[in-house]
This record gives sequence, structure tokens and C-alpha cells, in this order.
Amino acid sequence: MEPISRREMLKKLGWGAMALTAFPLVPPAFGIKVAEESIGFTLPPLPYAFDALEPHIDARTMEIHHDKHHAAYVKNLNEALKDQPEWLGRSVWDVVTSLKEVPEKIRTAVRNNAGGHANHLMFWESMKKGGGGKPKGELAKDIDAAFKDFDSFKSTFSETALKMFGSGWAWLSINPAGKLEIVPTPNQDTPLMDAGRPVLGLDVWEHAYYLKYQNRRDDYISAWWNTVHWDAIEQRYLAARG
Ligand code: MN
Repeated sequence: MEPISRREMLKKLGWGAMALTAFPLVPPAFGIKVAEESIGFTLPPLPYAFDALEPHIDARTMEIHHDKHHAAYVKNLNEALKDQPEWLGRSVWDVVTSLKEVPEKIRTAVRNNAGGHANHLMFWESMKKGGGGKPKGELAKDIDAAFKDFDSFKSTFSETALKMFGSGWAWLSINPAGKLEIVPTPNQDTPLMDAGRPVLGLDVWEHAYYLKYQNRRDDYISAWWNTVHWDAIEQRYLAARG
């Protein structure tokens, strides 16, 4: 389904409840045509061109990954929450950290699709044209402290991504004790679901690499390091570390 329209939202909540929301109240009797402000989750455009990460990640893969796969998580998340207007008004970050409160009959669908939406939002922002190299500053220092040096970190992270059985992600994440660690998550789970604070994630679902790399996940992982946007990752790390 499309994000719920303002009109559908009004039908669900009734005019009285609408006054409690952040939206300005325009009684229908006034006959004023209001813009259809959508409520629910939306897919932002990819923050760069589909071919920006060539030759490491090909344009066709990026297009399908964003326009079809990520779009499907957003669509299915809205669909799963279509009878839960209060959840449609929350941020995806709030949803993935509050799964226990989601009604049980839709919890798995919400977990999978909110996770998929959150993970891909982070993933696109983690890469850039002309990326790669190494982190600098605080993040570099803390990676060295946690994993000996950058090469050891890179090799453990790559190994974690390679060994993920089936579909999932590899993460550099701050655990609840405040320590940097490398963790895999299955499916579309995120470390946020376990009170972690993800810093960098690598998508190892086949849809992320199969067109160009087929079964050669190791080649995809090696190539992906050349896309990492370390300045953005450092900013994310500093914000997450607090
Ligand atoms: Mn993906």
C-alpha cells in the first residue's frame, strides 16, 4: 500500500483524535482542499547516482536494491502497520527499538520490514563515490584500541560478513556496555534491536551483490571496502558514542 493519506488517517482516527496530532485541523465542512500529507514511512532517494559506486557496486544492482528491495521494506512496513496509525507516526528508529510493544500478530512483519528500512537507510549513507581508505580521528583510535589495528578490524569484519549463513548483515557496533564490537545479524535484524548502537553495516543478502558477483561474496566484500564513507561513519560513531 501507499503511505496512508491524511484523508484515510482522519477516517481512522476521527476528527476529535485528529486535534491531538501534529497536523493542523481543517474541518472538512470548510471545503478547503488540503494537500495530501502522507503519514507513514517513505523511501528517500538514493543520496547519489546509481552508478556512483562503480566499478565496486554496479549501477543495476544499486537501482534494484534501492528502488525494489528497499522500497518493498517500506511498502510492507506501512502495510503491516495499516491498522496501527499511532505506530505510523513514529520514526523507524523508534520502531526497531520498541518491538516488544508492537502487537504480537504483526511483530515479525514489523521486525523484518522496519529492520530492512532502517538498515538500508544506514547502508546508503555509509558509502560514497570515491570512498574507501581508512578512518581518521577518534574512530581510528578506538578501532585500534578494540581490534589491535585497522587491518585486523577489517579482516575480522570481512570474515564475519563472509561466514554469515544465508541472508544478513555484518556490523561494527557499540554494545550496551559501550565497547566497539563486530557482530553479525540474521535477516534484517539490527544491533539496535539488542540495545546496540550500529556504526557501520554491510549488507550480505544476495540481492546486494549477485548480479555482478554471483556466488563470490568474498569479492563483493573486498570491493565494498572501496566505497566506505569514513567521514560519515566517524560522525555516526561520535554521535552514537555520546
Ligand atoms: Mn539489502
